[in-house]
Amino acid sequence: MSGIKSRDTKPERVIRQLLFARGFRYRLHVKGLPGKPDLVFPKYRAVIFVHGCFWHGHDCHLFSLPKTRQAFWSAKIGGNARRDQRQMQLLRSSGWRTATIWECALKGRGRLSPGLIAEICDVWLTGDEIELELAGQR
Ligand SMILES: [Zn+2]
Repeated sequence: MSGIKSRDTKPERVIRQLLFARGFRYRLHVKGLPGKPDLVFPKYRAVIFVHGCFWHGHDCHLFSLPKTRQAFWSAKIGGNARRDQRQMQLLRSSGWRTATIWECALKGRGRLSPGLIAEICDVWLTGDEIELELAGQR
């Protein structure tokens, strides 16, 4: 199964840089964990996924189904989204905290400032909330 998760996408690099600058250290794409999370913070028992809004089926302005083969794309993207949910549940059931940062938090008309994103991630990583979902403004 390949093709859904590209390595070193720009949003992911941005998140890495923001958190590295704040002193966080992480591992990347850990294969032994469900869904191979993009960033893994063993010290905080936390993982972050940086999700492209198209491939992972985010309900936002960056997402729209292609004009052709809509049934195919709808099934494919729906399958990706369900798999994401399963993997997050698996991670949480083994004691990991999970964050999803959507691409639209970083680009497009509703994007958040890098400083705000870094602050939100910092508070979540060092706190005890189980889940975080960060998306652009509607
Ligand atoms: Zn989105």
